[in-house]
Amino acid sequence: MLNELTRRNLLTGVVPALGVAGALAAWGPLVGQVSAQAVPAAGGGPVADAMAAAFKDGEYALPPLPYDYAALEPNIDADTMHLHHDKHHQAYVTGLNKAIKAIAELNATAGPGNPSLLTGLQEDLSFNAGGHLLHTVFWATMAPPSGGGGGEPSGALTDAITKDFGSVETFRTQFSRVAAGVKGSGWAVLAYLPLGQKLMILQVKQHDLQLAAGAVPLLPLDVWEHAYYLKYKNLRADYVKAWWNVLNWSAVDQALAKASA
Ligand code: FE
Repeated sequence: MLNELTRRNLLTGVVPALGVAGALAAWGPLVGQVSAQAVPAAGGGPVADAMAAAFKDGEYALPPLPYDYAALEPNIDADTMHLHHDKHHQAYVTGLNKAIKAIAELNATAGPGNPSLLTGLQEDLSFNAGGHLLHTVFWATMAPPSGGGGGEPSGALTDAITKDFGSVETFRTQFSRVAAGVKGSGWAVLAYLPLGQKLMILQVKQHDLQLAAGAVPLLPLDVWEHAYYLKYKNLRADYVKAWWNVLNWSAVDQALAKASA
């Protein structure tokens, strides 16, 4: 149960630190802790379902994969999926809950406090919250070919991509280039910006979503080495090429519908 101090801290600390207030507002479950509202029921596509599972019993939580660990073979191998989901993503969830708790405890102490300690905790908060959000959407926007992965987009998503990028092929080329160009650890993210109602491709360093405040991540591609190194070694471009084979366009289409509603 959140006490008033904790709730106030979340309102003033979590959302600005994330720089993704719009994204959180669009995804009820993550903002549920902030506003102390009930977590909405699952439904509305794989991304919405994953978001509903990303926060439960008063804490952020690791959503289960919506498919088997080996389901994305041979494009993404089962060992990588186990390591990536069970260890890396879990670490961001654990780190996020830990940072929230530590900041609340710091707020409860008397005296001037330690500014450098708070700064470090805020960095932990932002890093882990971004990691949790991006990975949650990442798993939900992939699927094995037998479950709808690969192919081409359809419906409103195709129209939106064509409007903002000229064509699906141009989008695909730009997105792959952005992913290839990430220096070190980061992401290529197709995001929806409520301001201007536009789709944009963002290049994200580590988990930093503050490049475009309010952006809702619809389709994130993880290009940290932990996402591909076991199978692809240093050949990130090969991993990116294979990832298109397991992209769940339908999940992205449903996420866009929800974000732009
Ligand atoms: Fe990752």
